[in-house]
Amino acid sequence: MTRTVSGRRARGILCACAVGLAACLISFAACGDDDPTGPTGPGPSSADYEAAALSITESEVRGHVSVLAHDSMYGRWSPGPEIEKSARYIADEFAAAGLRPGTGTGYLQWFQIEASGQIVAPIASPSVVPGNPGGSGASPNVVGWIEGSDPSLRDEHVVFTAHFDHIGTAPVASPTGDYIYNGADDNASGTAALIEIAEAFASLPAPPARSVVFLATSGEERGLLGALHYATDPTLPLTSTVANINLDMIGRNDPATVRAIHRTDSDLGDLARSVSLLHEEIGITPIDVADNTLVQRSDCWAFIARGVDALFLHSGLHDDYHGLDDEVDRLDSEKAAAVGRLAWWVGLELVR
Ligand SMILES: [Zn+2]
Repeated sequence: MTRTVSGRRARGILCACAVGLAACLISFAACGDDDPTGPTGPGPSSADYEAAALSITESEVRGHVSVLAHDSMYGRWSPGPEIEKSARYIADEFAAAGLRPGTGTGYLQWFQIEASGQIVAPIASPSVVPGNPGGSGASPNVVGWIEGSDPSLRDEHVVFTAHFDHIGTAPVASPTGDYIYNGADDNASGTAALIEIAEAFASLPAPPARSVVFLATSGEERGLLGALHYATDPTLPLTSTVANINLDMIGRNDPATVRAIHRTDSDLGDLARSVSLLHEEIGITPIDVADNTLVQRSDCWAFIARGVDALFLHSGLHDDYHGLDDEVDRLDSEKAAAVGRLAWWVGLELVR
């Protein structure tokens, strides 16, 4: 793990706690109001942080999900024209927020999917849908970032991740004629929150101390392929990645809880819990899950496998998981926005 406690800057002053992050955070909460001046001068005020968090709204999350999970995206199978269309939508949002492009050629990071890539969903017959679902081809990740403001910490960064691909279309339509796996929860929900978190960071009057990377991946449903590609060809070195915060399926089940999944030796679950206690207004209680099997099922695994600590926020499986009824109108976009706000505060604690 590369994350260190002693160098972590919190609320504009150097955090010198020699204890875990969660205790460190609580101790700062007990210290009273902010000292807005740090080694690099005035930073954002607590009002700026509150405003940024509140900019992650239900209506904006629902808006992004409505685009990504629309029937015209044909279930966002990667590779294919719809995954590229989805990627360009996310890239446009990153650009509008003012994020720096993650690659020398822009926001899209292309990688090759081979036909032998792990296929976990039925492949549609070409006669049923347009495009070319299944098979091999180039597929995009979308990467944007914000450079940190502290010269001594900006070489370190947190990576937020969410996969925007899904499982395409069904070979046979349902009795109602539906054959599109819209993937509103899996994982338009996490992607929408990722876009909103990026916008929230970009809205601050000054960047946080550390840098922040926003990575939307494709190929997840075929075996975490986009995340694994990023981990071998990262925008910023993984050795300086403080943590990964991964959002995958965040808008179903109990509206007041989310699973905070991590490896048993991580303290990121404690941090999520502490943040939720400090920000009860979010209305989300993380359920701590230290489980190696679950962390292997989403993009966070690409980071953990390379020694980067990760927190996986996930609202649990449901009857519509990888089904035709994972539709926008079944998504709790209020919850997805709230989980996004929780993730934003957790990430902020790691970078400010
Ligand atoms: Zn899935």
